[in-house]
Amino acid sequence: QVPLKPGRSLMDWIRLTKSGKDLTGLKGRLSEVTEDELAKHNKKEDCWICIRGFVYNVTPYMEYHPGGEDELMKAAGTDGTDLFDQVHRWVNYESMLKECLVGRMAVKPVTAPKEISSTLSEEKKQLNGVLPEKVLGASAKDLTPSYDWFQTDSLITIVVYTKQKDMNAELVIVDCEDKRLRAEIIVDDHSYLVEVDLDHAVQEDVAVSIAEKVRKVEIILKKKDKIHWRMLGQPLESHNTFIKRTDRGLFYRKCKLVSKKEVTHDTKLFCLMLPKSTHLRVPMGQHVYLKQIIAGTEVVKPYTPVLPFLPLDFKEPSCHDDAHIYLMIKIYSCGLFTQALDHLQIGDYISVSSPEGNLKKSQIQTSEELFLLAAGTGFTPMVKLLNFTLTEVSCLRTVKLIFFNKTEDDIFWRNQLEQLALKDERFEVQFILSQPTKDWMGKQGKISSALLSEFVKRSRRDSKVLICICGPTPFTEQGVQYLKDLGYSQEEIHAFTA
Ligand code: FAD
Ligand code: NAD
Repeated sequence: QVPLKPGRSLMDWIRLTKSGKDLTGLKGRLSEVTEDELAKHNKKEDCWICIRGFVYNVTPYMEYHPGGEDELMKAAGTDGTDLFDQVHRWVNYESMLKECLVGRMAVKPVTAPKEISSTLSEEKKQLNGVLPEKVLGASAKDLTPSYDWFQTDSLITIVVYTKQKDMNAELVIVDCEDKRLRAEIIVDDHSYLVEVDLDHAVQEDVAVSIAEKVRKVEIILKKKDKIHWRMLGQPLESHNTFIKRTDRGLFYRKCKLVSKKEVTHDTKLFCLMLPKSTHLRVPMGQHVYLKQIIAGTEVVKPYTPVLPFLPLDFKEPSCHDDAHIYLMIKIYSCGLFTQALDHLQIGDYISVSSPEGNLKKSQIQTSEELFLLAAGTGFTPMVKLLNFTLTEVSCLRTVKLIFFNKTEDDIFWRNQLEQLALKDERFEVQFILSQPTKDWMGKQGKISSALLSEFVKRSRRDSKVLICICGPTPFTEQGVQYLKDLGYSQEEIHAFTA
């Protein structure tokens, strides 16, 4: 991120797009753009970019781009889809750039190579004349799941046969709304989808059962009426496809805000309830995207679910279950998204995406010493990590949280963290403040090589160490560099990013 000039915030951009100003310079005319034509528009004052087959004039957006003009210019006059996907695939550019739309790329006829999976629709193969990344390699094809279904008087059972070792409930995401069933199964970095418009209506609750040994997933639906179904339903666009997870668009479901509690002066714990017809568990280290319509534009931001409290603290009522998602969110006084979030009332709905993230459980299960470096809300991924390591990982000898905040008042769950350290001798916590008051007796400063060499130390030369780091981008980037300078390898460091 780069500092933006005053008057160039996302809200200012939204206002400009609503002002009726001609942002493409084409008076609303849409055209077919050839590659040659696109390539001509490669200057800051005349910059077109293609994303997924659609061409946008991004010149008016230059000064509003949070990543800076130079980043945007990297894709000037070209297909920027890959670059866009690498940096922020989740940003809803269709909505944000709709007033900048110049037109579609002219479609070139293509011949599909042999290895294209037969499960991809013709339309997908031809999309904007460029072959999608959805072409499967041989290894992915070997893992392709398949499905079948059967019925009793009252139930419909869909069985997905996967070839996935360690199949578990976190790898299955099911949504069923108004006869539309969408069941996604995650297999390594691929996603298999059963997506149909069901033959008949079903009841709200959906059950998922996993037979781990035979790598089989069962999705059980209750018929609304006890009638015989002739078929499961009409296949929808992405039905029976097996593609890279990152190529699947984000899927959202509406969740109800059921409570909102203060954590600190500016941070709240939001509890969202998933629909009964959704089966979704957010794995440790992963985040979801929230989507809200702000001033008529869809805005999306990532958040990392936490638990309602830390492990070993049994004082709170136990409401920790799969039906709720807890989010610890800092409300910024000038924040576009968090201000809108803070205005949600109990009972209001908000769109929540399926989870994403790349922390592997095995990275933690094989560690003997875990160091967690968290700054501000960068604490959020550490909550599930702490719960998992302290309750399920037997080889871990120490877990050390080094928590950076501005002031004492900004520290989340200080009391709980201190209690946890007293209760579990493997766990240690250190608070470091960057703007302490005179009374602060603890450590102060920002992340530095000196601080890290003091707090992140192997207790044995051959110890298996994992260091997880999360916070503002400069904090994470500097931290990773210092750790590398101190001799930690890439494999020993996990940085949380979007
Ligand atoms: P914005 O409108 O983006 O602004 C935030 C603050 O920064 C404001 O004070 C604004 O004035 C200032 N600002 C914004 N852009 C600039 C700029 N370019 N130059 C100078 N100042 C600027 N947050 C949480 O609270 N909890 C979480 O669990 C969480 N999880 C996350 C997970 C991931 C993977 C990532 C990437 C981020 C996560 N975040 C989390 C941060 C979250 O996504 C939002 O960025 C945050 O809520 C701020 O959004 P906003 O629209 O309210 O603020
Ligand atoms: P904050 O402004 O309260 O700062 C907390 C601490 O971070 C400071 O005390 C300081 O020690 C450190 N810090 C802040 N700016 C720094 C800088 N420029 N260089 C070095 N250190 C710095 O933090 P906040 O408002 O709670 O913000 C937390 C950040 O964490 C957000 O940017 C959010 O996007 C990010 N976050 C990322 C993820 C993720 O990627 N998975 C998850 C949660 C939060």
